[in-house]
Amino acid sequence: MLEKEPVCSFCGKTKNETKNFVKGIEDAMICENCIKISHTMILNALKTNSSDKFNLTPKEIFNTLEQYVIGQNIAKKVLSVEVREHYKRIHAPVSNYVDMEKSNILMIGPTGCGKTLMLKTIAKILNVPFAIGDATTFTQAGYVGNDVESVLTSLLNASDYNVERAQRGIIFIDEIDKISRKGAGPSLTRDVSGEGVQQALLKMIEGSTCLVPADGSTRKHPNQSTIEFDTTNVLFVFGGSFDGLADIIRKRVSDSSSMGFNSGKIHSKNNVTNVNDYFPLVTTEDLIKFGIIPELLGRIPVRVTLDELNAEELKRVLIEPKNSVIKQYQYSFELDGASLIFENDSFDSIVDRAIKRKVGARGLRSIIYEIIGDSMFYLSDNVKNGIKEFIFNKEKIENIFSEIDNKVKK
Ligand code: ADP
Repeated sequence: MLEKEPVCSFCGKTKNETKNFVKGIEDAMICENCIKISHTMILNALKTNSSDKFNLTPKEIFNTLEQYVIGQNIAKKVLSVEVREHYKRIHAPVSNYVDMEKSNILMIGPTGCGKTLMLKTIAKILNVPFAIGDATTFTQAGYVGNDVESVLTSLLNASDYNVERAQRGIIFIDEIDKISRKGAGPSLTRDVSGEGVQQALLKMIEGSTCLVPADGSTRKHPNQSTIEFDTTNVLFVFGGSFDGLADIIRKRVSDSSSMGFNSGKIHSKNNVTNVNDYFPLVTTEDLIKFGIIPELLGRIPVRVTLDELNAEELKRVLIEPKNSVIKQYQYSFELDGASLIFENDSFDSIVDRAIKRKVGARGLRSIIYEIIGDSMFYLSDNVKNGIKEFIFNKEKIENIFSEIDNKVKK
């Protein structure tokens, strides 16, 4: 009689696919990989979570955000309160009378205005695991791509597979505007049904037990070992730049003169609707018109709108935050025994270039790199030869920019 090939009872791997097996009673087997995963999970579950800082007040959260995020005062305030409320709810004793509902958050703001930065900073302040997912990479079951639950795998990774901690983490799903319902909004870039992905998100964000592949893969397969992940206490935050939404709002506002809005009061500049004027007026109906399904909106009750950063704020982003790009590069130069200096007149040129690129503060890092890239390449040699100060002023920077632009034109 042929002997049956040993198969891991947890993940289904055969002897060929894994090195060692441990035999249990009857035909039970466990492979090396499943033992490792279980071991890590148990160790992490045993760790105490005393370092989580859930008791910070909204004011304390806000004050720390101030050190990292320029402007966006309303968003900072709303987030500080809502995040505090979320963790208060998790830790509240069960009441017979009141059921505190989960408040997932939608962040609407142009690209590079600080959405991700704010959440990352909040997760750090509270010492909770944080993961980012990109809605455009998700597909509904049956299509090529990632399951929406793959973002839970990222959160498990961020908590070293401590399931208990991960279940109290924060997940930021970016680019939610890019999976709008086909034909509803102006973003028709996606063929695979965005609506299907929105539907797929519903159960997970509302709070349910999901099965997450234990091996870190982004798609579930039969016979794979999985981890049970309860999302009830995960805070889901969605973000997007919602290009075209401001036009939808403007149209509604100017059509509804009965609401007391004067359409002439808020102008479009160069035919571009100013998002800072209109985003704060957003309603559920506007978002449905844009292509977000009502069922999803119903599960994201908190809305936060963020401003496009103006020139003055972009300049502050360069200089003020605790870990501004310039401070990071300055520290890097210091590590090589050199100093990097930007003279006061240099910031306007950098900011002008960022504004032209229309990517908000996100463009600042690459612009600084354009300026200092060469200096970094030769840094060690220069330091060895006694050149230790690298000073940039407006004139020098403008020359570097025109050299780069001329090369591109050729
Ligand atoms: P998005 O709004 O597209 O999520 P990010 O938060 O990722 O933008 O911003 C990209 C980078 O730009 C950040 O890492 C940070 O360096 C800088 N930045 C953006 N907005 C701000 C802000 N309001 N204050 C300070 N830095 C900012």
